Amino acid sequence: MSARILDGLKIRDEIFAELKTEIAKLSAQGIRPGLAAVLVGENPASQLYVKSKIAACESLGMASWLHTPPGSVSTDYMLQLMRDLNADDNVDGILVQLPLPAQVDSKRVLEAVNPAKDVDGFHPVSLGRLVSNRPGLVACTPAGCLELLRRYDIPIEGANAVVLGRSDIVGKPMTLLLMHANATVTICHSKTRDLPDIVRRADIVVAAMGKAGYVQAGWIRAGAAVIDVGTNKVTDPSEAEGLLRNFPQRLEKFRAKGNVLIGDVHPDASFTAGALSPVPGGVGPMTITMLMSNTVKAARLRRGKTSMVAGS
Ligand code: NAP
Repeated sequence: MSARILDGLKIRDEIFAELKTEIAKLSAQGIRPGLAAVLVGENPASQLYVKSKIAACESLGMASWLHTPPGSVSTDYMLQLMRDLNADDNVDGILVQLPLPAQVDSKRVLEAVNPAKDVDGFHPVSLGRLVSNRPGLVACTPAGCLELLRRYDIPIEGANAVVLGRSDIVGKPMTLLLMHANATVTICHSKTRDLPDIVRRADIVVAAMGKAGYVQAGWIRAGAAVIDVGTNKVTDPSEAEGLLRNFPQRLEKFRAKGNVLIGDVHPDASFTAGALSPVPGGVGPMTITMLMSNTVKAARLRRGKTSMVAGS
């Protein structure tokens, strides 16, 4: 049987509709939530990400500003920009698109963001709030994964959850969110032994490793919910043939285009899992959605307003 699809595009539309109502109410009080995006240099992938974030702001009627310092920018310049954006009362959220060029001290720049405007949830204060389960701004990708589980009524309390990956931006905050939702969480990384056995015990699997199709269909317990965070561009024809042998239409598209986006979970897991977030169309849209939600939340929290959107 095929897994139920945890459709990030559908949930995005649902949350956008809720956010629009909230933005209209804020606007009636003279508040227009606004996001300042900082895009350094000319990285095409980063340009694309930032463009879609600005487009999302526009579609919701939020204000947005794009700052584009050159790739040769210094740490001092970036720190001054953060001070300026922190001081600008129109700016509710500051987004620094990563990666920054090697000469820029990324940690110092991220720590210079006012935690009240930290809509990416990367500031140590935001992480500290998450650790201690206090209200705050949570990193968008893991927050989006949790929202997908919640909105599809996947039971989390008491569930065995396995998180594959321990990065600061996905694995660690995901583990904390699941733990606070009363799952029993196992966090795995590149030194974990007997990974297939650990995954087989999971009711919920969140894969965030950056390895195309690594998690095999046979590792997934029948009926488990799988959140696939991985976004890996596969260009090697033999790799694509192996991954998509049961998906002739996707294989055809790969042959025509020369590349395909594959998650960290083997596509065949859709035959074993109970529910699965597709790649693309699962976690990706949820990440931008939670960025918008965080910006509205920051606008509200900075002005002491209460929420109208569930889960925010
Ligand atoms: P990352 O910083 O590279 O971290 C990868 C993690 O996976 C590390 O903790 C690593 O373990 C672990 N890992 C690597 N190989 C492993 C293995 N064989 N077994 C178990 N664990 C293993 O990556 P990230 O930033 O968290 O991103 C992970 C994936 O999610 C990437 O594909 C990225 O493109 C994608 N992503 C997608 C979105 C989205 O919006 N859809 C957002 C963010 C990230 P160690 O710690 O031991 O090295």
